[in-house]
Amino acid sequence: MGRNAIQFQKGLSFPEFQQRYGTEAQCEEALAQIRWPDGFRCPRCDGAVHGLVYGRRLKRYQCRQCSHQSTVTAGTIMEATKLPLTIWFLAFYLIGQAKTGISSLQLSRQLGVAYNTAWMLHGKILRAMSERDESYLLQGRVQIDDAYFGGERPGGKAGRGSENKVPIVAAISLNAEGHPIHAKISPVPGFTLEALADWARQHLSSSCSVLSDGLACFRSVAAAGCSHAAVVTGGRHPNDLPEFRWINILLSNLKTSFSGTFHAFDFDKYGKRYLGGFCFRFNRRFKMAEMTERIANAACVCKPCPERALRVAEHYA
Ligand SMILES: [Zn+2]
Repeated sequence: MGRNAIQFQKGLSFPEFQQRYGTEAQCEEALAQIRWPDGFRCPRCDGAVHGLVYGRRLKRYQCRQCSHQSTVTAGTIMEATKLPLTIWFLAFYLIGQAKTGISSLQLSRQLGVAYNTAWMLHGKILRAMSERDESYLLQGRVQIDDAYFGGERPGGKAGRGSENKVPIVAAISLNAEGHPIHAKISPVPGFTLEALADWARQHLSSSCSVLSDGLACFRSVAAAGCSHAAVVTGGRHPNDLPEFRWINILLSNLKTSFSGTFHAFDFDKYGKRYLGGFCFRFNRRFKMAEMTERIANAACVCKPCPERALRVAEHYA
């Protein structure tokens, strides 16, 4: 990984963040810019002509054509929030800057809100990041591997088949020079041919040439039209093979993140959005200065999600 390119890039400093997103009006304007870069459009009738109604916390955009009233948060994951937008933006910032992730507990301390509030906010933001990343497919050369996460001990491949752990598939695409581009990490129902075929159809384009170890289920990436080659590890630990360098680095970063900040994390239930959030950050690691805005963007395109839906265990398929 290009050290200079990633680790020494210019990010968004905290003073710069405060300068840009320090007030409610600034955050409201930032959301309006993200949602309607070419000016307001009515979500009901697509009309552009509107008036502004002041008086409540957020100003209302009233459509002249159909009289529908809208706000910058209506129809997004932030809909009907009681929290100031500055708290949302500070959460976008903290989640985006935390290289090894942040726990809801840390978030609650840093935002100065109750743990439950931070948990909800964190869950919603991770969900938005996760959904945003689901929308594209990996292309070209791809390394793929299996692992187990959750349970009592974080990470590790030693326990293939062990109980209380969630099977996950990790994949990373490489460019022509062999540098990592995009990562996808998802929980799967199991390491079966069927589960991997479903996974491949959802996450890989047919242009992919996939490299895996000899685990049988990986050959079903062919279901997505990809070519596949398996490296026979011949008794060596796959971590020692240069062919799998990037996927190993990715999984090792994930373990660090998980064990460092998510001890109390209910991975069995919420692993999907956690992994999606991890990949979102990884996939934008060259653009640290834009991270806050990109998370705000993900929050704008994500549909509202009531608390009860957020507490339900996610589907892995
Ligand atoms: Zn309208």
